[in-house]
Amino acid sequence: MSTPDHRGRRIEVQVNVGLCRSCKICVEFCPEEVLVARPPLFVAEVARIEACTGCRMCEFLCPDWAIFVDVRGPAGRKPSRIVTVGGC
Ligand code: SF4
Ligand code: SF4
Repeated sequence: MSTPDHRGRRIEVQVNVGLCRSCKICVEFCPEEVLVARPPLFVAEVARIEACTGCRMCEFLCPDWAIFVDVRGPAGRKPSRIVTVGGC
């Protein structure tokens, strides 16, 4: 699911339901309450994509790499402030 924010960025949050183990860590730690986990399976769902800031907290904290966050600039490019860490 994706949304353009007020700066023209397009933010996309994807949950891979095949990898999600319903731990609800992402739901608890999302500062904007974007994510929910409903019964009976409690798999994470994107409920309020319009509130997402693209902070990637959910992606960083998910122990099963089940959430992917993509933030693109107005021209469709990655904003320059987004950096990859841990590379060679
Ligand atoms: S943190 Fe990951 S495994 Fe846990 S509920 Fe969220 S998406 Fe699923
Ligand atoms: S990127 Fe941040 S605001 Fe958006 S769903 Fe993940 S934790 Fe919540």
